[in-house]
Amino acid sequence: MCDAAEKPLDTIERKSLLYRSGLGFHCINHVLGCSHGCRYPCYAFLMARHHGRVGDDAEWCRPRIVVNALALLDRELTRKRVLPSDVHLCLTTDPFMVGQPEIEAMSLAIIERLNRSGVRCSLLTKGRLPAELADRRRFPCDNTHGISLVSLDEGFRREWEPGAAPYADRIAALRRLHEAGRRTLAHIEPYPTPGILEQDLSVILAEVAFVDYIYFSGWNYSPRVNRDRATEAFYRQQRSTVRSFCAEREIECQIG
Ligand code: SF4
Repeated sequence: MCDAAEKPLDTIERKSLLYRSGLGFHCINHVLGCSHGCRYPCYAFLMARHHGRVGDDAEWCRPRIVVNALALLDRELTRKRVLPSDVHLCLTTDPFMVGQPEIEAMSLAIIERLNRSGVRCSLLTKGRLPAELADRRRFPCDNTHGISLVSLDEGFRREWEPGAAPYADRIAALRRLHEAGRRTLAHIEPYPTPGILEQDLSVILAEVAFVDYIYFSGWNYSPRVNRDRATEAFYRQQRSTVRSFCAEREIECQIG
């Protein structure tokens, strides 16, 4: 398990920050690595290792912050003739990593800077979304505040997302922002098969019934998941459960 939380952060410098991902949307990743240390495995870790940016799990779990991120962002926003309407934080790290106040502060400063230029942010974390995000004077755009949530079982969380925040904390932080009138998202991916964890998806959905938007997708990139006919039938059933749940409550829904 990652044990990097609350140690002083190492730093790196980059030449650019804001980019359009292969998935078609704009992103910012102002940290290399992630102390949540997910074991699905983490696709961002696999890519970082493949490209030689990190050597192993232990190195991935010692996040390095991009010290010049704010200066880069300021320059890029000033120079761009056409700004993106939305920017996602983050695709290859977590903007609100548990026990990493420097990362949290920089993430908030980046969101503030983007909003000042009229650029909305979509945020996704397995940490606790900070209460400051409710402040419309500081964050005036209609940002989307998302948590990853694939279970409510803390035993599962400790095994598969060992450095991430407890599920109840993630939901409580999300609910607080919802109650403050902010747009919220539950990102349910990678949803485990019964071979990994027996659980009832309806119980998880009920916990986040207040959100504006739900994304659901299965479990990829793991030899533990055999995509056979039984698995496909299982995911068909779960997708149908999500669709019905969202339709009944007029929650925006996307199935991956
Ligand atoms: S929170 Fe996201 S980036 Fe961090 S280890 Fe888990 S999957 Fe990877």
